[in-house]
Amino acid sequence: MADQFNQPLGGNDMPRFGGPATMMRLPSQQGTAGLDACFVGVPFDIGTSNRAGTRHGPRQIRAESCLLRPYNMTTRAAPFDSLHIADIGDVPVNPFNLLDAVRIIEEAYDTIIADGCKPLTLGGDHTITLPILRAMKKKYGPVGLVHVDAHADINDSMFGERIAHGTPFRRCVEEGLIDGNRVVQIGLRGSGYTAEDFDWPVAQGFRVVLATECWNKSLAPLMDEVREKVAGGPVYVSFDIDGLDPAFAPGTGTPEIGGLTSAQGQEILRGCRGLDIIGGDLVEVSPPYDPSGNTALVGANMLFEMLCVLPGVAYRD
Ligand code: MN
Ligand code: MN
Repeated sequence: MADQFNQPLGGNDMPRFGGPATMMRLPSQQGTAGLDACFVGVPFDIGTSNRAGTRHGPRQIRAESCLLRPYNMTTRAAPFDSLHIADIGDVPVNPFNLLDAVRIIEEAYDTIIADGCKPLTLGGDHTITLPILRAMKKKYGPVGLVHVDAHADINDSMFGERIAHGTPFRRCVEEGLIDGNRVVQIGLRGSGYTAEDFDWPVAQGFRVVLATECWNKSLAPLMDEVREKVAGGPVYVSFDIDGLDPAFAPGTGTPEIGGLTSAQGQEILRGCRGLDIIGGDLVEVSPPYDPSGNTALVGANMLFEMLCVLPGVAYRD
């Protein structure tokens, strides 16, 4: 089996601090031919409103992913036993023009998903989820969504601009990219401008789970409810690292205290097992604000957990 499927380069074959700087030390390849899933980077930060730097996210997440081993010791998932996976590199965004970058991302994902490959995206700020879901809509129709974030990201505009990292899910609703009755947002909190920030998504049919609803408890029971809510069609997973508390993920542009723990993030993603997941992203890791690398390390691990719940993953149980 190890001969048929790509395997991450093992830490006994090449020290973990050496070898290729790809996600999980996987082979890199151009395009998605023959792949069931891929890791792909979107080095983009011109949609951010406060601290920038997420353009460096993909490279740093790849660097910190060098410690990831192929088997999930807790869930018994063995994604490299049954899926063809590789790192297909980065989308060549235009760093000087947001709308052109958004067009480039959508066209790149049109190609990535054309034959059913499931992209797991290394962001990048949260703007990028809009063009990804525009591409998904064309192939799959409106999708369900599991969205982890401190923020609802449903602003109508920012500085008069309709596309930025705080607006993607407003646009997704307007453009029919997501099915509001199959959307859950988890981890919302912080200060705001108006109560409408969290009321508007509820009015669209979303289940909004405030961070306070998650404090000091396992999220496994919540995920039973989440699966019931979002099931019934293709599901996309969008994980903004600022959904976690800054104690766990300080290297991000708009941190908010009182957030989820890393373990709760893992519970959320592990709770997505059984859903028809067609892709996911991990966004808002900003390496300039992450001197220890811990935020990127957490991000890399969350992407691994996403990989471990894709349909078709083998479990050694
Ligand atoms: Mn956020
Ligand atoms: Mn966000």
